Amino acid sequence: MMLGGGILKGMAVTARNFVGSYFVKERMTTVQYPEERAPLPENYRNFPFLVFDGEASDAGLRCVACKICEKECPPQCIYIVKSNDKKPDYVGKPQFYPAQFDIDISVCMSCQICVEVCPFEAIKMDKVYELSSRERFDALLLRKPELAKSNEYYHRIHPTEAADVDAGLAAAAAAAAAKKKPAVASPAPPTPPSNPNPA
Ligand code: SF4
Ligand code: SF4
Repeated sequence: MMLGGGILKGMAVTARNFVGSYFVKERMTTVQYPEERAPLPENYRNFPFLVFDGEASDAGLRCVACKICEKECPPQCIYIVKSNDKKPDYVGKPQFYPAQFDIDISVCMSCQICVEVCPFEAIKMDKVYELSSRERFDALLLRKPELAKSNEYYHRIHPTEAADVDAGLAAAAAAAAAKKKPAVASPAPPTPPSNPNPA
């Protein structure tokens, strides 16, 4: 091979990539933010939010104020006040709800531990990232009304994960319903035929 042929080949690859990066849309890494936004990967996560089913009220929130996430959060940025009264939940058991649920997102480190430990699929990771504020304290303390978001929203931002969660909840509800059903009475044993030749 001609001396320096490898260098020319390398230069050709570089030149092709350089020119291509101006014309192939997928390869353009710069977007005109904020008019344009690069799509986020499905598993991108930022800060947690609370999932509700149906109505955006305490009855719809999946959270039952068990406080496991509050205890497990490494930087202790979750603050929950349990309700005094109970609410009927979607499987019919009376449960508590969070009278207050705050997350200080200036402290949250997006570790997702709160999501992993929640037994009720009640807290999930959001994808919002435009949360900067000039005010250090109050504006970065998200309260229950700001944290509560619908299951439909969850499906929009994490479709695969949300579908898995729905399937798990449906299976658990079906298993609970089956457990509640009274056992079907077993059929009576057949009566033995009477002895045609008694002793
Ligand atoms: S979000 Fe989950 S773990 Fe946290 S208090 Fe509510 S139900 Fe319990
Ligand atoms: S993501 Fe981590 S740091 Fe943030 S609230 Fe959940 S457990 Fe706490």
